[in-house]
Amino acid sequence: MKANQMRAFGGPETLVCEEVAMPSFGSGEVLLKIACCGVCHLDIILRSGMRSRVSLPRILGHELAGEVMAAGSDVEEFKVGDRVTVFNFQACGECADCLRGRPSLCRFTKGDIGQTRDGGYAEYAVLPAANLVRLPEGMAMEAACFAACVYGPPYKAIRKVGEIQRGQAVVVTGASGGLGLAAIQIVKALGGRAIAITSSPGKVELLKEKGASDVVVSADGSFGDDVRALTGGRGVDLVVELTGSPTFAGTLRSLAPGGRCAVIGELHGKPISINLGLLIIKEFRIEGVQSASREELREILDFIDRNGIEPEIWRRMPLAEAAEAHRQLHEREAVGRILLVP
Ligand SMILES: [Zn+2]
Ligand SMILES: [Zn+2]
Repeated sequence: MKANQMRAFGGPETLVCEEVAMPSFGSGEVLLKIACCGVCHLDIILRSGMRSRVSLPRILGHELAGEVMAAGSDVEEFKVGDRVTVFNFQACGECADCLRGRPSLCRFTKGDIGQTRDGGYAEYAVLPAANLVRLPEGMAMEAACFAACVYGPPYKAIRKVGEIQRGQAVVVTGASGGLGLAAIQIVKALGGRAIAITSSPGKVELLKEKGASDVVVSADGSFGDDVRALTGGRGVDLVVELTGSPTFAGTLRSLAPGGRCAVIGELHGKPISINLGLLIIKEFRIEGVQSASREELREILDFIDRNGIEPEIWRRMPLAEAAEAHRQLHEREAVGRILLVP
């Protein structure tokens, strides 16, 4: 089969498209024909060698969707022809954290799809059945492949942490990135009001097109007063924090009493300072969100499908152009996601 393999750690040129042996499958595993695979910023981090558990050569790609071609004899959940996408954490499934539905906290994880085992930059992949989720009838593969990585964290932030309902206001920082656009789509689908914060004046139109009720252009944490003015002085019920320390002062200032802040992203890894008195008096809640669970992924697929949510796709490229896709993503030329289509 054709695959794009990472042969060394380094620049985009380490991604080489070549003919490799078809992967064989064993018990508990499924052979998938890949329909499409998203190129993620995480893939660039992995390629540069910043994650110690990745060995070489490796086929990257965790944002994939495809069709079941064959399965191990003990696999009962899936049959040939099923259309599936991937939950990318290979959690143990048995520890206390896994059992309470928090697989991203599993201490016995075998690493992630596209990291410690081959992923979706290929025509075929063999994956554990325990990591697959069936798509709703008729759902497009291109929408499904982004459900876990792009829609998962904002969905968990908005529905589980924020418990956002019709009419409630949500601030989304770093709104013009992939997760930010996803967050806006989710808030809009719930009948909420999304207030987008972006540092790029050029992204205002796109944000409104995607469903933002209001857009505040701000490169630092100074948007809090704008948000208050937009909400009659009250502030918002939830901030989806995608940039972290650079915007956190504005985030705190934006919160209504009893407001929640779901932290999904941190750009610089810098400490912040908080007046804990404010936290007490306003009864704020600040919660980190890394990933949705496999159960939540089923819910997300249904939600995306039911609400006709479509990801912003910038370009579709063949496997041979994975290096070019990495370059465009890294140089921030891409507005929306890049898809590799075998
Ligand atoms: Zn991803
Ligand atoms: Zn576990």
